[in-house]
Amino acid sequence: MSHVMIGLVGVGKIARDQHIPAMTAVSGCQLVATADPHAALPDTPAYASLEAMLDAHPEIAAVAVCTPTHLRYSQARLALMRGKHVLLEKPPGATLSEVEDLMTVADQQGGSLFAAWHSRFAPGVAHARQWLAERRIQRVEIEWKEDVRVWHPGQAWIWQPGGMGVFDPGINALSIATAILPQPFFLRGATLQVPSNCQTPIAAELSFTDAHEAVIEAHFDFRQTGPQTWDIHIETDAGRLDLTQGGCCLAIDGEMVVEAEEREYAGLYGHFAELVARHESDVDVAPLRQVADAFLYGHREMVDAFIE
Ligand code: NAP
Repeated sequence: MSHVMIGLVGVGKIARDQHIPAMTAVSGCQLVATADPHAALPDTPAYASLEAMLDAHPEIAAVAVCTPTHLRYSQARLALMRGKHVLLEKPPGATLSEVEDLMTVADQQGGSLFAAWHSRFAPGVAHARQWLAERRIQRVEIEWKEDVRVWHPGQAWIWQPGGMGVFDPGINALSIATAILPQPFFLRGATLQVPSNCQTPIAAELSFTDAHEAVIEAHFDFRQTGPQTWDIHIETDAGRLDLTQGGCCLAIDGEMVVEAEEREYAGLYGHFAELVARHESDVDVAPLRQVADAFLYGHREMVDAFIE
């Protein structure tokens, strides 16, 4: 398989923490250049805009879009219209409609479009999905609690419309839940706690059910200091499953069956290279739809202002 030559747009925290190391590690992908108005990497050609990067490097076959969510659509569309394949960091867009339009454009242009739900590549997720496939879900507890100051330092966009607030990490939990639960589930009620100086929630309590009336609860909080919590606990008619540490650990009926290091982005880029080689797309909007439902149907509670 020849290398996918990649241009990266948005050289921020996630690009540096994950995308660049993963591209370097995965055979099948090669970083050619970056586009960001201010940031650059040593030893990599850097441009202030996506257009300038694509003009300068016709060999770029694919663009990884790692900018804040409200910029996804215009940048992804531009890249697709220039005949490039596109990897969208999660969330794939600020709205469902724009993601659906990107799917149409990718189809028309013959480009691969990948909505990269990185948490689905956590080591325990595939096994969990397989184990749950034949079982009846009774109860699910999702606890996704992290420190916004650690993971999103100084990022004003996260508190603006489209930034999603605590749903920025919470959508990762929903990307796992929508992948492993055997039945579709839907929102019954939600409370969104919104700081008085922000547009998006800092915490959320969500209640879902499915066609068999399973009880599915999610607790998202951006104010957790100390150890971080990214856990999903599931009781079924035939045993219990605990997927913890963001999906790195999987226990079934109390016995650890998967305990592995986090390598989500290596899996994600491997999958992207395969999609490009097969001229296929992979865009699942289910996690984004759950978030949209929470914004559509949730109660708002105003809480203390968020001071960075
Ligand atoms: P970030 O640190 O704010 O990085 C975004 C980068 O994009 C910044 O360097 C920003 O520059 C740049 N940018 C802004 N406008 C641009 C434009 N028009 N063209 C090119 N670059 C532009 O944010 P992040 O944490 O990396 O998050 C980016 C995306 O990744 C978000 O959608 C987030 O949900 C997702 N994500 C984040 C994490 C995480 O742990 N942080 C994890 C997984 C996924 P300025 O700072 O100068 O505006």
